[in-house]
Amino acid sequence: MSKHPSNDDSYRFLFKDADIRGETVTLEHVLTDLLAAHDYGAGVRRLLGEFAAATVVISNNLKFDGRVVLQGRSDGPVSLIMLECSSDGEVRGLARGELDVPEGPLSSHLPQGVLTLTVEPDIGQRYQGIIAVQRDELADVLSDYFEQSEQLATKFWLSTRNGASAALMLQQLPSQLVADDDERLDQWVTLCALADTLSADELIDSETDTLLYQLFNEWTVHRFEPKRITFGCNCSRERSLNAIRLLPNHEITDLFEEQKTVTMNCEMCGESYHFSCDDVHLSEEHTIH
Ligand SMILES: [Zn+2]
Repeated sequence: MSKHPSNDDSYRFLFKDADIRGETVTLEHVLTDLLAAHDYGAGVRRLLGEFAAATVVISNNLKFDGRVVLQGRSDGPVSLIMLECSSDGEVRGLARGELDVPEGPLSSHLPQGVLTLTVEPDIGQRYQGIIAVQRDELADVLSDYFEQSEQLATKFWLSTRNGASAALMLQQLPSQLVADDDERLDQWVTLCALADTLSADELIDSETDTLLYQLFNEWTVHRFEPKRITFGCNCSRERSLNAIRLLPNHEITDLFEEQKTVTMNCEMCGESYHFSCDDVHLSEEHTIH
């Protein structure tokens, strides 16, 4: 049985007397599954843990069915890192490049890198924002980005170590309860200073209610019901088959001349799909009729 029953659950919370909301998550099983698909070294494992926890807290506020994708690209050791979290709480992701880099700041793994944050509703227009990696830590890059793009003060605390990662996010809301600008700023600075007292281990190890009490016991906090976060991939046999069918006919013929069965591996989850020549042609007939 898990030592921390609240792990892999994400929590939203609100302060009763301040226009500030929060999100928190600790990932354990999700991270184990995410990291199992590839042979990642310590540096990339840490990076994936932080990206995953951050993507979960960002996606937790989605008001529609869809997904949040946080992607980093660089010409440095890590050429690509991508994490997705759906509104159903399904996380998947991967990294490419030098997968055995040692632990280090984000800026050493993705020097002069660019992060892209994409919000993809199942129905409707997707929204994409771009962030240059100009700070050492992912938490600071994201805090800067949200403050600039949403015009709302936002701060992230991220922590990761072997087998687990965690995130805490605070965000100022438009004025509703508190009209006075000085008081709003004072509340924001105070709550961020309290969250700053959290150690990296406490962020991962503390049960959510304990953590909220430890930090904000002088404030009234309303915590919402948790949302279960799971590792999940939306790849399927059908999608893989469609990908093969998109190849020019002569390439499909060549593929099956070399081998009886074509295998497609999903890079995200490690799932393998096997197809015979008949599978590909049967599928074509289906689309004609
Ligand atoms: Zn997959």
